[in-house]
Amino acid sequence: MKSVFDIAVVGAGATGLAAALAFARAGFTTCLVGALDVHRDGRTVALLDGSVRFLRALEVWASIEADSAPMTAMRLIDDTDSLFRPPPATFHAAEIGLDAFGWNVENATLVERLAAAAAGAANLRLIPKRAANASFNEEVGRISLSDHSTVEARLVVAADGRNSLLREAGGIRTRRWTYPQSALVTLLTHERAHGDASTEFHTRHGPFTLVPLPGRRSSLVWVTSPAEAARLGALGNEDLAAAVERQAHSLLGKMQVEGPRAVVPMTGLSVERYFADRLALVGEAAHVFPPIGAQGLNLGFRDVASLYDAVVDARAAGEDIGHAITLRQYQRSRDLDVRLRTAAVDGLNRTLLAGVLSVDFLRGAGLIALSLIGPLRRVVMREGLQPSLGSPRLMRAEAP
Ligand SMILES: Cc1cc2nc3c(=O)[nH]c(=O)nc-3n(C[C@H](O)[C@H](O)[C@H](O)COP(=O)(O)OP(=O)(O)OC[C@H]3O[C@@H](n4cnc5c(N)ncnc54)[C@H](O)[C@@H]3O)c2cc1C
Repeated sequence: MKSVFDIAVVGAGATGLAAALAFARAGFTTCLVGALDVHRDGRTVALLDGSVRFLRALEVWASIEADSAPMTAMRLIDDTDSLFRPPPATFHAAEIGLDAFGWNVENATLVERLAAAAAGAANLRLIPKRAANASFNEEVGRISLSDHSTVEARLVVAADGRNSLLREAGGIRTRRWTYPQSALVTLLTHERAHGDASTEFHTRHGPFTLVPLPGRRSSLVWVTSPAEAARLGALGNEDLAAAVERQAHSLLGKMQVEGPRAVVPMTGLSVERYFADRLALVGEAAHVFPPIGAQGLNLGFRDVASLYDAVVDARAAGEDIGHAITLRQYQRSRDLDVRLRTAAVDGLNRTLLAGVLSVDFLRGAGLIALSLIGPLRRVVMREGLQPSLGSPRLMRAEAP
């Protein structure tokens, strides 16, 4: 008789690898469908405090920490030439009792280390093939693979990214939108120390952000018009470094472009629901954010940790882990968090693009209020990292 896995995860990106590891470690028979795809594209991810706790709970953080840089402070600088330009504001992690808001690491390094942990994990079968199709019934999810073999599981976790085939097969509708912007991303070395602070300049075309990496290195996410991003992306390394230094007002001194670069269109995606029969969506299969405010993968890890809670609780109660009751519990835990963050990222970006005095005034007043009012400052800093309501168990200080 063909064996049925408890859980089949599809997609070997950071979210899928983390999901497969978490479920396998909890004793579920798990398979991970998808080939490893580690290409260095200059993208880094700022892993916020909850994500680091989660990676600690999965016992992979120790292999990542040395290649990441802490962000102990965040500087916001209004660079819009607005009449209501507030003074720069700096937020310190120590104000909310943390060593750092988060740690910044190359996405490819993170995926590599998760994959190394997955390769040695008990209860986890790696199937380095593409899913070609999927169907779901009351008992199981069935995935057809590129070599015409099939895999069955009581619960299928779709971690197959923004163009998710599984989401499509589950009949889950999406809403997509675009911004009139692209992001240029690359890695830089610079003359002056970043002091473990990230700096975000708010320009009329979008945020220009430098995020610390170990040593005198930073990653750049420069959100601007598509034409300007294409022009910058086509410059030679020296000219690009000079353009970055100019835009950063020489804050970190002379720059050198150190790594690969990519120009990423700014898009968003949300789903009508996070589950279908025997199917749960996590990561970019469930939500796509523009690269502003370090939300995307942090939310992806929160999806996984929340799904883990729902599934582990169902097993403890003797219930079916892939049943709609379990998956509805997962949906409830994710809906508000993702909606709020989608609105916050969207709102900040649109106020920058609006160029309207009244909107500038509100943005400026908001930043001044954040700078001056201590309790508000601390609430916003904490909420920015993790929602105060119902943090999933693997992200708590005393994670199991
Ligand atoms: C410039 C930039 C900066 C960013 N900065 C941050 C940040 O600071 N903090 C943050 O939290 N997030 C950030 N993000 C977002 C973050 O990078 C993404 O949220 C995250 O990488 C998505 O991971 P994922 O595993 O969900 O999807 P993906 O990385 O897209 O992985 C999906 C995987 O599924 C596989 N797959 C697809 N189809 C199939 C199939 N049919 N069968 C098998 N496998 C399949 C793919 O090959 C891939 O390996 C940034 C994004 C960008 C573009």
